[in-house]
Amino acid sequence: MVRYKFNGLLQNDGWLIPAFVSVDDKGKISSISDHTSDKSVIDLNAFAVPGFQNAHSHAFQYAMAGLAERHTTTQTPDDFWSWREAMYKLALQVNPDDTEVIASMLYSEMLRHGYTHVAEFHYVHHDKNGKPYDQLSEMGSRLISAAKKTGIGITMVPIFYQKGGFGKDPVEGQKRFISKDTDSYLKLFEATQKSALQYEHANVALGIHSLRGVDPVCVKEICLHGSKNVPLHIHVSEQLKEVSDSLEYLGRRPVEWMLENCEMDARFHLVHATHVNESELSGIVKSGASVVLCPSTEGNLGDGIFPLRDFISQDGNWSIGTDSHIGLNPMEELRILDYGQRLISTQAKYVLQKIRRKFRKNCN
Ligand SMILES: [Zn+2]
Repeated sequence: MVRYKFNGLLQNDGWLIPAFVSVDDKGKISSISDHTSDKSVIDLNAFAVPGFQNAHSHAFQYAMAGLAERHTTTQTPDDFWSWREAMYKLALQVNPDDTEVIASMLYSEMLRHGYTHVAEFHYVHHDKNGKPYDQLSEMGSRLISAAKKTGIGITMVPIFYQKGGFGKDPVEGQKRFISKDTDSYLKLFEATQKSALQYEHANVALGIHSLRGVDPVCVKEICLHGSKNVPLHIHVSEQLKEVSDSLEYLGRRPVEWMLENCEMDARFHLVHATHVNESELSGIVKSGASVVLCPSTEGNLGDGIFPLRDFISQDGNWSIGTDSHIGLNPMEELRILDYGQRLISTQAKYVLQKIRRKFRKNCN
């Protein structure tokens, strides 16, 4: 047993000042108190906050973090879509062993930076020829193994990916991702649930790649008839082109279509939601759904900036994710997020002011 002293420790109901934390031989916290008579306490002269949740990760992309910066010339566009081409090339190469090694390194780094749980938005399901593995969730089970090995909690989100764009067949580079229909996806989901049994800190959520990646009929099947007891993650409105394609194909903007068709509630995690108008923004808040913001990746790919200041003023729920892992530090994610909001609002006011005030109130 070791006992540490912190100047303060942030809990659900505010700061505990000072805080004494006892840790058992296995590294688990056994008690937290504001006093101790133990003279051997180790004073860390620091503040402690709970572990961060990383709500959006594609582990294999860690192997290309930064590499897409130089692969284009001035003649070719360097944007989300060119980055995606580079990502498809990598996705065609990684085998289950590679995946476990990459994820083990990645999850170790996440833990080092303060993340203690990761939601893995996983879509490289099949072998290099696009054929399902004998064990359908082979690749996903390697991610769970990596999480177990490193000690990070994991929510596996096996992804339903079906299309190459709105109404378009998938391209060759996507052959490892594809579930042809809702039934095949649900089989993969069930196989992943079995794989998750190997690790006590693993659970499973439903996942749809995006409205451009899955037929709208199937999106509704999963949203309306998939298990109601688990969260559901989906990429949405990350790119302006995605919004204009959605308007053309579905007659609605992506979030607008989801609000009308998916009975959204607190189970829903909308990843990015970068390009939303005022009524979509308040629709998300009213539904109880959360947005998952990935500031370093969204900045790196030039996606745009989510109107977080307005969202927070309406008490919207949000979280952060490292997505392509161009950055892995939660403090950096929050700083980019905050500075982006200052830039679009031309106000130097701290965007998380409301949350900070809540903490302060609890402290006094
Ligand atoms: Zn993503």
